[in-house]
Amino acid sequence: AKVLVTGANGFIAAWVVRMLLENGFSVCGTVRAESKSSYLRNLLKDDVMKGKLEFLVVPNMIDPGAFDDAVKGVDAIVHTASPVHLHADDPDELIEPAVKGAVGVLESACKHAGPLLKRIIFMSSSGAVINAPYTGTFDERSWNEGSIAEVTEKGKDASPMAKYRASKTLAEKATWDFVKRNKQNLTWDLVVTNPTYVFGPTLSDARTPSDLGTSMLMLYEGVFSYAKTMEERANYQSEWSDVRDVAEAQLRALQTPEAGGQRFLLAREPFNWLDWCDTVNDLKVPGISAPFTAHGKGPKYRLRFDSKKARTLLSLEFRYSRAETTKDIIDEFIARGFL
Ligand code: NDP
Repeated sequence: AKVLVTGANGFIAAWVVRMLLENGFSVCGTVRAESKSSYLRNLLKDDVMKGKLEFLVVPNMIDPGAFDDAVKGVDAIVHTASPVHLHADDPDELIEPAVKGAVGVLESACKHAGPLLKRIIFMSSSGAVINAPYTGTFDERSWNEGSIAEVTEKGKDASPMAKYRASKTLAEKATWDFVKRNKQNLTWDLVVTNPTYVFGPTLSDARTPSDLGTSMLMLYEGVFSYAKTMEERANYQSEWSDVRDVAEAQLRALQTPEAGGQRFLLAREPFNWLDWCDTVNDLKVPGISAPFTAHGKGPKYRLRFDSKKARTLLSLEFRYSRAETTKDIIDEFIARGFL
């Protein structure tokens, strides 16, 4: 079976591509420019040689029909491409590609995919689930109306996080809406995954921490940078999963028939940056330490995500502990000269 993965060079997508190949799938990955595929092409050259992995350049996913060629003959699609950053001025810098990209994939799938296509997985975010006042425990029944309201009200002056979360919420809503409107004619179903923060090693040629992707840059700064105070570290709180568990979740979402029509929060456990500082310091890697440590006595978690549905319906175990993920991240950061 062949799977189309959009934004194949991204932090999460690269692991999705690798895991699909390891599980016997063929993969077509889209990238915005040929050069963006070179790292993966080289890493997975055996699969390229065997004709199991190919790349397609889709320069601009907001163009109508951008994915028309990419969807031809595939059995499934994992749509991950979306802007992931916190420096947009106009919220539409994020919202337009997120929404038009997502709807564009579905439109192309309807027109050009053919009868083999059985499932589309849209990678949304816990940012589409969490809602104002952003405290308490959230599950898949919740929608982030708060960030949409903030962006509608404040436009460019909305917070960077609200702009990103609004882009993910609006894109996910647009995909469910598309499925509802076209229900009669669809030969495939939709599954949405909503990861919380995703951390772990990267499959890329990152030369600076900023090249790692937004969530890994946040971890790098949250844990290793001296620019943040202890309070700032303690107050930054959410939940997380390892990137390899998130990739596995996409595979399970593909292979679990009952997952059709469902959204799945992906969250191993809560964290604040002091927890990661503790783990770094507990690991005692020679020459590596985090500037603060809380010895497990950080503040109470005020924000939780309930991932029961992914754990039961997808049988997802979230195998990577904070210590394992941290060890792999430290090894990578040392190898890249970031620490
Ligand atoms: P990355 O930034 O590493 O990857 C994003 C991918 O999307 C890249 O391939 C990127 O291409 C592509 N992309 C970005 N903007 C556009 C655009 N305007 N048009 C076409 N392609 C674009 O992000 P992650 O791997 O972290 O995220 C992948 C997905 O997972 C996203 O949908 C994100 O919202 C979601 N997610 C991520 C979480 C995390 O903690 N990392 C948590 C929850 C959800 P290029 O390299 O050319 O820029």
